[in-house]
Amino acid sequence: MYFENSCIFGEFPLDPCDHLRRNEEELEKRSASKSSRFLYYRNGEVLMEDEAGLIPKFISHAPHNGILIFLGEQAGRSYFACSVDQSEEDFSGGYFLDLRTIARNTSENEFSGIPSLLARGKMVLDWHDRNRFCANCGLQNESGRGGYIRHCTSCKKEYFPRIDPVVIMMIIWKDKCLLGRSAHFKPGVYSALAGFMEQGETIEEAVRREVLEESGIRVGHVDYVKSQPWPFPSTLMIGAIGEALNNHIDIDSDELEDAGWFDKNQIREVLKTGGNDKFRLPEKFAIARHLLDYWLRQA
Ligand SMILES: [Zn+2]
Repeated sequence: MYFENSCIFGEFPLDPCDHLRRNEEELEKRSASKSSRFLYYRNGEVLMEDEAGLIPKFISHAPHNGILIFLGEQAGRSYFACSVDQSEEDFSGGYFLDLRTIARNTSENEFSGIPSLLARGKMVLDWHDRNRFCANCGLQNESGRGGYIRHCTSCKKEYFPRIDPVVIMMIIWKDKCLLGRSAHFKPGVYSALAGFMEQGETIEEAVRREVLEESGIRVGHVDYVKSQPWPFPSTLMIGAIGEALNNHIDIDSDELEDAGWFDKNQIREVLKTGGNDKFRLPEKFAIARHLLDYWLRQA
C-alpha cells in the first residue's frame, strides 16, 4: 500500500456536517452569522489574499445574490462557497486566481487541505452553473441541501453533483515506463496515459482499453495506486500501475502526438534538471508525477 504524499486537492480539511444539509433553518442562521466565512468565486477563480495564491481571502459576509454552498465547519466556524459577479462589490485587496496557479505555487510540504477546500467549492459551484435546468422536463431547477442537490420545481426530479472518473496509468515493460504526449501539452511534456472511464467498466478494464486504444500496448495485471480530485471541472483521477504484455507502440494519432518507453535514469535526470523542450515531465501537483515517484521507488 502507498500512503505517502497525499495529492493536492485531496485531504478535505472541514467536517462536511452532512446532517445539517437538510436543516434549512440552521443553514440560514449560519449563513447570516458573523462568525461564518465565505469563499468568493468568479468565473471559476477564487478570491485569494495574495497574488501567489497561498492564502484564501475569507470574507465575513455572504454576497447579496447567488447560490451558497455549505462546505462544512471547523472549530465551530462555518464555511461557505459562493459565486459573485463583477458588479457585486469592490474586490480590491484580493486576487481572483485559478486553481492551477494555486496548486502550482503550493508546495507539497505546506498544503494542509486548503487546495481541497478551494477545489470543492469550485466543483460544486461549476456543477450548479451547468445544471440550471431539469434534464427530464426542461424547467428550472432549484438548489437545496446546502448546495448538494438540485431539484426540479415541476417534475420533482432530483440531481446530485456529478464526478467524472478518469483512469491515469503508469504502464511498465521490464525496466521502462510508457509515457505519451498530446498535441495540447506544453512543449516536451510527456505524461502517463489517461482517459475517461466508460459506463459499465471496472477500473482495470478502463486502463486496458485506454492504453490499447492510444498506444497499441496490451496490459495485463493492474494495481490501483492512489487518486486525486481534479477540479477542471469535476474529475476524479484514478491512478494505477499496469504491466505491459507487448512493447511495440502503435499510437492513435487522434489522441497522442508521440509515446515512448523511458527508463528510470532518464526520468531521474529530468527530475533533477527540469528537462527541456524535447523532454520534460508533468508538474509536481499532478498525479502523473506521483505515479512516476511510486514507480521510481520500486526496486
Ligand atoms: Zn423536471
